[in-house]
Amino acid sequence: MAEPLATPSTQARPDGVRVRVPGKINLALCVGPRRPDGFHDLATVFQSVSLADELRATEAPAGVVTVAVRGRGADLVGAPEDNLAVRAARLLAETYVPRCGAHLEITKGIPVAGGMAGGSADAAAALLACDRLWGLGLPSEALLELAALLGSDVPFTLLGGTAIGHGRGERLTPVRVDHTFHWVLVTSPDGLSTPAVFRRFDELHPPETVPAPAVPEGLLAALVEGDPVALGAALRNDLAEPAVALRPELAVILAAGTEAGAVGRMVSGSGPTCAFLARDAAQAAGIAAELRDRSAGQDRRPGPDVHPARDVYVVRAPASVGFLHAGRG
Ligand code: ATP
Repeated sequence: MAEPLATPSTQARPDGVRVRVPGKINLALCVGPRRPDGFHDLATVFQSVSLADELRATEAPAGVVTVAVRGRGADLVGAPEDNLAVRAARLLAETYVPRCGAHLEITKGIPVAGGMAGGSADAAAALLACDRLWGLGLPSEALLELAALLGSDVPFTLLGGTAIGHGRGERLTPVRVDHTFHWVLVTSPDGLSTPAVFRRFDELHPPETVPAPAVPEGLLAALVEGDPVALGAALRNDLAEPAVALRPELAVILAAGTEAGAVGRMVSGSGPTCAFLARDAAQAAGIAAELRDRSAGQDRRPGPDVHPARDVYVVRAPASVGFLHAGRG
């Protein structure tokens, strides 16, 4: 166990610490062969989107970490013991301040099990909020180290913005993106298991046929230049094929987004959320309206119907919320 970096403040903080943390999409998710440890080497480009969870941490007795989850899909989040935010707060306490405790209130805005790193985002939010609540003030490197122990996507959700990820996705290089892109996200009422999607990837691609992963040429230039058409052409997700194999109706949603005029389309992460890139905010609103119509069965034009009971969101990326957007109260 590491030495405590700081003596936690004994000052009561009944109002707690509130953190807003965005979900992500992967603009590229290039998967290498399965490693001996069971993980796959990845070359990925993460981007935060303006669909976020909120986490509020308040003081609890020493050694106690509890959680309450509300918001869309809260019933799909597992038992408190398995909640990634609880595990994050416990890890932080065990490592630095065993006599601290916290109660966490999570309001879900990120679809659960949607391939948008909702659980990872909550873990990042818990690290950040409890760091403040307990008066630790750890440097970001220390929080990123703990984040990597919690899961492959946790370091990025702590960082926010846009970043290239290597290894399991935890080795990050931030990318400065000054342009805003406009996306439409179509979520699904039933999640997809990330391990199941990777297993199907392995079935479809024997390890000896899988090359070392690399970020597609042109993708970073399109991001930096703010060119949605070039970005749309450069999007790539090697998990799309296994996700569609497990959930064939995703092909219908992807086709509907293309028909609606999206300049790029992809399955987000391991799915089942589908992401559509628009030229601008106005076109994103139009694509969303068309997909909502198709989902509601109101669209009379020829083309695929989108399964009902899906949510359609218009989001901006990269999101302006992220690491260190912690506020009191
Ligand atoms: P993954 O990180 O596996 O790619 P995902 O991004 O698709 O997952 P999540 O919303 O993180 O989706 O949910 C994955 C699983 O994690 C769910 O089955 C859920 O029960 C569990 N989970 C644990 N903690 C949380 C949390 N705080 N919020 C959402 N899901 C959580």
